[in-house]
Amino acid sequence: KVVVGTKVDHNHVNWVTAYNMLTGIRFVVSRVNAKMDKPLTDADFDAKHKFSFDITGNELTPSAKYDFKFKDYSPWVFRHLRSKFGLDPADYLMSLTSKYILSELGSPGKSGSFFYFSRDYKYIIKTIHHGEHLFLRKILRDYWKHVEDNPDTLISQFYGLHRVKTPFGRKIHFVVMNNLFPPHRDIHQTFDLKGSTIGRDFKEENLADNPRATLKDLNWLRRDMNLNFGPHKKELFLQQVERDVKLLQKLHIMDYSLLLGIHDLTRGNRDDIRNNALKVFQPGGSESDDLHGHMLQRTPSKMEKARQARELRKIINKEVPVSLDRTSNRLPDEFLEQRKTVFYGDDGGFRATHESDEPGDVIYYLGIIDCLTHYGFAKKAEHFWRGLSNPKDQVSAIPPQGYGDRFFKFISGLVKSPEEAARDKEMREKA
Ligand code: ATP
Ligand code: CA
Ligand code: CA
Repeated sequence: KVVVGTKVDHNHVNWVTAYNMLTGIRFVVSRVNAKMDKPLTDADFDAKHKFSFDITGNELTPSAKYDFKFKDYSPWVFRHLRSKFGLDPADYLMSLTSKYILSELGSPGKSGSFFYFSRDYKYIIKTIHHGEHLFLRKILRDYWKHVEDNPDTLISQFYGLHRVKTPFGRKIHFVVMNNLFPPHRDIHQTFDLKGSTIGRDFKEENLADNPRATLKDLNWLRRDMNLNFGPHKKELFLQQVERDVKLLQKLHIMDYSLLLGIHDLTRGNRDDIRNNALKVFQPGGSESDDLHGHMLQRTPSKMEKARQARELRKIINKEVPVSLDRTSNRLPDEFLEQRKTVFYGDDGGFRATHESDEPGDVIYYLGIIDCLTHYGFAKKAEHFWRGLSNPKDQVSAIPPQGYGDRFFKFISGLVKSPEEAARDKEMREKA
């Protein structure tokens, strides 16, 4: 059984930090949610508020001896963003509230960032560098505007920007964002694609030890894979990628990637390769439903809904250990509410289609991640050094315009209906 993520309980080294993060989030989010809604003003973008807490999570007067400090950035902007992304305020708080809620993914990238999942796996907390923090604050207006104009953006959905600090401790900046992968589906393959080939290879021989490793561009090309979308979805998808990339180029961002999780409906959930270590309550349902590829389940009766809500509340309030019923993949309604947008609308993802636009056999869970790297001095240095030994446009760290063009070109080249891909293959084999 493959389980990723370590539960952060009181024995975990980062328990205090995680606990402080959540206590702070609960406090500041409740605080802004309690107010009457209002339109955003210019000052809301620059706003920041500091709070001190004792160990039990009580707010203290600024002069008192504190256990940790918490800083909240642009609370109104993030409240509006959460609303634009269709999050229910109470639901958001519940997900990030219970005590042992988090599991830690350690530091999967080279950057040293830590990732934590909320207990229900809907949200990810990512620690970020001070530079990324400053940069997000700088671009927040543009980001907000982009979300307003593009509610279906594929760029990471940011729900909060905060900082914790313990006495004598380090300042830890972090963002809360959407987990692209669903809690209730096996993700059979994961790719992180940039459109570059240099350094973009996960060693195939290590795959046996780590079957759910995140693969990269070269692994993708080696498998001769495609993003199977028929004409309608192809257009929707590429249009959005193009708009998103334009924003990233304008803001001089680079190094982002398309994160892609593939759920194969013909395999269903049998492999027990969860995208994470989630254990979640799943009422009713059967595996054969999954095999038939039903996207959304029958509407539960009023009574069943009430039962689901009760169970969910139990889980959230009391940290009752919950077990994953492997034969089912139903989720309480609450879990599905979040995903109403185009690209997260097919059971939390975007389902493949045929040339006829009829639904296909896989669901893609995808988005553009790691979008806070500004093409600054560090990257210029990297470009220089790596550029010496590598063909120029293949180096991952090229300036943002070129990076975005290459990214878009690569992604557009991948989108083909299964029928189109088969014809292409036949042509190649003949040639
Ligand atoms: P580096 O800068 O070295 O690439 P990083 O620390 O900035 O690393 P990311 O690139 O943001 O990290 O993410 C690393 C991995 O974490 C991704 O490849 C993916 O497996 C997982 N991950 C990141 N963001 C998400 C998300 N929103 N949903 C699901 N998984 C994610
Ligand atoms: Ca990355
Ligand atoms: Ca990064």
